Amino acid sequence: MLIVGPHLSTSKGFLAAAKEAVAIEANTFQFFSRNPRGGASKDIDIDDFNAYLTYSKEHNIITPLCHAPYTLNPCSNKEETREFAVQCFEEDLEKLSIFNGICYNFHPGSHVGQGEEIGITKTIEVLNKVMKEEMSVTVLLETMSGKGTEIGKTFEELKRIIDGVKYNKNLGVCLDTCHVFCAGYDIKNHLDDVLDEFDKVIGLDKLKAIHLNDTFNDFNTHKDHHQKLGEGFIGKEAFINIINNPRLKNIPMYLETPNEDAGWKEEIAFLKANI
Ligand code: FE
Ligand code: FE
Ligand code: ZN
Repeated sequence: MLIVGPHLSTSKGFLAAAKEAVAIEANTFQFFSRNPRGGASKDIDIDDFNAYLTYSKEHNIITPLCHAPYTLNPCSNKEETREFAVQCFEEDLEKLSIFNGICYNFHPGSHVGQGEEIGITKTIEVLNKVMKEEMSVTVLLETMSGKGTEIGKTFEELKRIIDGVKYNKNLGVCLDTCHVFCAGYDIKNHLDDVLDEFDKVIGLDKLKAIHLNDTFNDFNTHKDHHQKLGEGFIGKEAFINIINNPRLKNIPMYLETPNEDAGWKEEIAFLKANI
């Protein structure tokens, strides 16, 4: 079954987001845990949450994916930013435990000139503070394009982070198609080779989610600018291959394309027509 949905705002609650997903024929969605540019954590409205659960059951909406704020940088050179990362993780993971088996995706961070080695070490340090032996949430490292000083642009870097975390059973990866393509993984022409590489370096059992985005920028440019499916350098054919690849079949896919509901509805219809 194709599990696909866009990134939606939950500012009007989870029930409203689930209804929005259903209206565009999505069966899941992604949302931010809090304002992506920073800000305090808001409590989940329990009445809305229960109404969302009932509605989701009736309409076969699969557990959404939560995305951490962009301001979370676990490998910052500033201590207060790393402390915010720990606090943000702790609050968000606690809040998300209300969901049954949800994933929490974050950007591994920008080393801001300290170099990859220190960046990776600092991100591991933060994860070792927040990852527990038993936890209900699965934390996902997002594959990055390598813009600026981003870490997580190679499968090897992600693997090193995973290996550095003591309790890494609940640590997985979210593969962003725009990011990996711009990082130099040719999912357009050699999807199976990229999946082989992922499997060899990290293990495909760690792949828990996919961000389906086309890109404004060409292969290996280390840029991060999403485009609508089929309107960028990756192109329609590649997305048809991705959704039909047997190794990716049961992995939920999230659209972070520059669209509103009408555009996402079209993209979902296109994907469903080609499965
Ligand atoms: Fe992201
Ligand atoms: Fe993404
Ligand atoms: Zn991106």
